[in-house]
Amino acid sequence: MAKYKCKYCSEVFDKPLDLARHVRMKHKRATKRAKKATEKVTPVEQTNKTIEAIGILKGLQVSPNLSAEEKKLLGDVTKTFEGLLPKGK
Ligand SMILES: [Zn+2]
Repeated sequence: MAKYKCKYCSEVFDKPLDLARHVRMKHKRATKRAKKATEKVTPVEQTNKTIEAIGILKGLQVSPNLSAEEKKLLGDVTKTFEGLLPKGK
């Protein structure tokens, strides 16, 4: 007989309907909340941090006591950060 295992708590059920009901009752709310939390934090904060880093790098680049080599290195790093930003902004 086939067994249906809950992916959240590993409890085993005989029927898929029982498993679906169990997930809906016990885990649905928690999953929803976790998903919402990651949506809220990740993209916006990441973008802000990247923009901040680019600003710092660009400030360093115009510093008069840098060698050409150091400026080139900073330019490369800045480009890498700019590549991390969402397109079309
Ligand atoms: Zn479960």
